[in-house]
Amino acid sequence: MAVKYWDEKIETMELAEMKKLQSERLVKQVKHVWDNVPYYRKKMEEKGVTPDDIKGIEDLHKLPFLSKADLRDSYPYGLLAEPLKNCVRIQSTSGTTGKRVVSFYTQNDVDLWEECVARAITAAGGTDEDVCQVAYGYGLFTGGAGLHGGSHKVGCLTLPMSSGNTERQIQFMMDLGSTILCCTPSYAAYIGETLHEMGYTPDDIKLKAGIFGAEPWTEEMRQQIEKSLGIKAYDIYGLTETSGPGVAFECEEQHGMHINEDHFIAEIIDPDTGEVLPEGSKGELVFTSITKEAFPLLRYRTRDICVLTRGKCSCGRTLVKMTKPMGRSDDMLIIKGVNVFPSQIETVLIKDFKATPNYQIIVDRIGTTDTFEIKVELSDDMFSDTIKDVVTLEKKLGADIQQILGIKAKITLVEPKSIPRSEGKAVRVIDKRKLV
Ligand code: ADP
Ligand code: ZN
Repeated sequence: MAVKYWDEKIETMELAEMKKLQSERLVKQVKHVWDNVPYYRKKMEEKGVTPDDIKGIEDLHKLPFLSKADLRDSYPYGLLAEPLKNCVRIQSTSGTTGKRVVSFYTQNDVDLWEECVARAITAAGGTDEDVCQVAYGYGLFTGGAGLHGGSHKVGCLTLPMSSGNTERQIQFMMDLGSTILCCTPSYAAYIGETLHEMGYTPDDIKLKAGIFGAEPWTEEMRQQIEKSLGIKAYDIYGLTETSGPGVAFECEEQHGMHINEDHFIAEIIDPDTGEVLPEGSKGELVFTSITKEAFPLLRYRTRDICVLTRGKCSCGRTLVKMTKPMGRSDDMLIIKGVNVFPSQIETVLIKDFKATPNYQIIVDRIGTTDTFEIKVELSDDMFSDTIKDVVTLEKKLGADIQQILGIKAKITLVEPKSIPRSEGKAVRVIDKRKLV
């Protein structure tokens, strides 16, 4: 029988009790960092803060921020808070936005991380009777390791597939009766596409749920994946700097992700001024790890833009919720002076195409003028439509994009299968302006 919560006490804890727990853990964590991380201690000293100033979460705002630049400056050991002999694991970011950063784990850190992922798998309906196919990349990337560990904790029969070799993924899925699929949403879409190309339908597989994250994806994309694989698709969020996937997870309501607040304190700040914003405001997400031993980042700026809400959730969890990040502040493109997130384009494409689109955004600069092109792949069906239909589609897309973004894009429809598929994080944007 499905269990509702992995850790009912924590997941349904009253707010006042949770704040008390967070405060106790924060006070301890600040001392641990002050004593063991000279890099951060210096930052605190520069701000005139000592551990005595931090008596609870109400004092959190006094602490200095950490950013990815700090991680790069202090690479590899500068933020380590435990002797290396106490560490058992290293993982690394996927390097989406520059040089990779590494993070360290004690055995306790690994255990707590896996606990967080176990909560996510349980919230997606997973139990020890499930067969959990992990198709996130294994290795330094936290996706594979995180879901693998969480799946073990829950007691699922774990299929450590890693990403790639898509036909084999589907073969194993059928032979071994996988019920849960874990991978990036773009890879899930590709697996769905391949399933249909191999002549199968969702009736031929036993999958019931997917746990997809590590990159932004839209509601429209969720619906397409759910349809093509015949599943419920749940979002999971995390970053290497705070452990990996499992910092936040979606419940049956599929409307925002609950943050594991007993391990991570979340704040939303104005990315320009650093000011803490009230609940319900959109801004940059900042995390403080209050239980990590080896790599305990305080007030880490994620650059992910979202909203925190603490309304009542129908699942009964009291953990604060974050909306899907619409992209990172550094994912945002400024084209002809207009802010553009790839997710806005994805929404329009799926609406007009009625299918998971494969697309690429190409930005360049000729002289002082930006050029903005969206390459969209036609499906086989559309490819066989008359030229007139294709021209109409191209026009409609162009008009819808202009309406949403306020600027014009050149729409180029390309042949089926001409845009590379992703087995990990999709590369949606080619910004040639950065290359010069
Ligand atoms: P990198 O920064 O190199 O991509 P990570 O692999 O640690 O390194 O990725 C963490 C980042 O991935 C997050 O900061 C966020 O931008 C993105 N991410 C992770 N999960 C999600 C999700 N569910 N929705 C949107 N973005 C996500
Ligand atoms: Zn919920």
